[in-house]
Amino acid sequence: MFAVACLLTYIGSCLMLYVILYAYYTCFRVYRCNFSRVLIVTAHPDDECMFFGPTINHFLGQQAKCRLLCLSSGNFYSMGEVRKKELINSCNILGLEKSAITIIEDNNLDDDPNIEWHTNLIKEYVKKQVHNYSIDKIVTFDAYGVSGHRNHASVFQAIRLLKNSDEISKDIEILVLESKSCLTKYLSIFSLPFVLLNHLVTNSQLYISSPFEVLRTQRAMLKHWSQLMWFRVLYICLSQYMIMNSVHVFEQ
Ligand SMILES: [Zn+2]
Repeated sequence: MFAVACLLTYIGSCLMLYVILYAYYTCFRVYRCNFSRVLIVTAHPDDECMFFGPTINHFLGQQAKCRLLCLSSGNFYSMGEVRKKELINSCNILGLEKSAITIIEDNNLDDDPNIEWHTNLIKEYVKKQVHNYSIDKIVTFDAYGVSGHRNHASVFQAIRLLKNSDEISKDIEILVLESKSCLTKYLSIFSLPFVLLNHLVTNSQLYISSPFEVLRTQRAMLKHWSQLMWFRVLYICLSQYMIMNSVHVFEQ
């Protein structure tokens, strides 16, 4: 009985915390319109909504101009053409127009979890976007790449090299999405106390989606129907990345 009471208290506290934090960050977001030009760099179609949905919601809510650079067509199962269309449809729901999406098809950037991509090659693609679209913020994976996928980690390594070079302006802010432990990754909204604690200790930025935005991100994920195996359906229901992103500024 005591355990049930504790569990119900925890669930109620998480829901209340979500409402308070969402209200706080929404006000913060509305009053901090910065009209940035943001480039989100991902490795595969579906990364944008599996991992970066709350970040995209946050920046679009700030009236920022967002672009997506997806470094492969996700051709691991020879479904690249299908997945490119799915990506366009997913982004359409998230609020990114087709003209704001670049999908790279390069034989040296094959979708493969066992392959590390050439960082110099990625650097060139990112640099081109930064210069062509006057980008002032880049958002991407951290060193672990959320799921440990080597392609994700390669994207971070390439952008780290780019940041430390003199090939882009030092003023361009690099934001990396924090990888979460398996313990909290699949607790959905109930990971909030852990996320908030981490936010306070590490001073990371926290982007929280509204219930409406969460549903929109989930709808975007459903556009990737070729990827909707049972475990991805579970992911949509349980992953904290569908609801919130912890992001920190990468210095060097
Ligand atoms: Zn991926």
